[in-house]
Amino acid sequence: MQTNSRRQLVAGNWKMNGDKALVEQMQKQLAGASLKNMDVVICPPFPYLGLFDSRVKLGSQNISEFDSGAHTGEISIAMLHEFNCEYVIVGHSERRADNNESDELVAKKVEQVLKANLTPILCVGEPENVREDGTFFDYIAAQLDAVLSKVGINQFSKIVLAYEPIWAIGTGKTASPAQAQEVHAFIRGCLVKQDDNIAANIVILYGGSVKGNNAQELFSQADVDGGLIGGASLNPEDFLSICQAANQ
Ligand code: PEP
Repeated sequence: MQTNSRRQLVAGNWKMNGDKALVEQMQKQLAGASLKNMDVVICPPFPYLGLFDSRVKLGSQNISEFDSGAHTGEISIAMLHEFNCEYVIVGHSERRADNNESDELVAKKVEQVLKANLTPILCVGEPENVREDGTFFDYIAAQLDAVLSKVGINQFSKIVLAYEPIWAIGTGKTASPAQAQEVHAFIRGCLVKQDDNIAANIVILYGGSVKGNNAQELFSQADVDGGLIGGASLNPEDFLSICQAANQ
């Protein structure tokens, strides 16, 4: 059994929510907190990235697969660099569904983020019908394989994974700690076959209706290394209590 140096991480995905006032409130809340044992990342909509001060680690919710040029409405990795973004969410289920992002496109975007030395937060997770028909392990393995075959196992030492069952996102139907642990262990197991050290050290977040009252039990599972938080990241107090659960 490999030892590991994993640190818990909580990333708040504001999606297309929030405003300048929330930037202020969130900064204040986080500045007053003592969170020495974990990392916090805020992923606000693009216009707000420049409003945070340097004490807050930032992530973006998306990235173009292109470097620059005639791609109206897109944001490049170089632009994110200028705004001190360290993380980029890639393959969120809402982008896979709303913007037809295929596994191949997601893999290209991961490659783009890695090329710029930023950290991709690669989201995988099954829809409800796949959970119900019992083929979710195959579904998740295929999402992982698309990226593995594009960037190779060694690059996974620079990637954060997020298991986000689609049926749990924004629904209030959180996966049970046992369901989350089962899939996280499966994901780690897929990587062990290729590199046991990378598998032991990769951070795997759980996302899907994490709240202050369920975070601690989820984060205490052996293979759950924190969370990707949607709705609850819009309330600074709720978000802080989730961070505190990861800080223990
Ligand atoms: C998400 O969209 O990544 C998410 C986990 O949302 P929520 O926490 O609202 O379920």
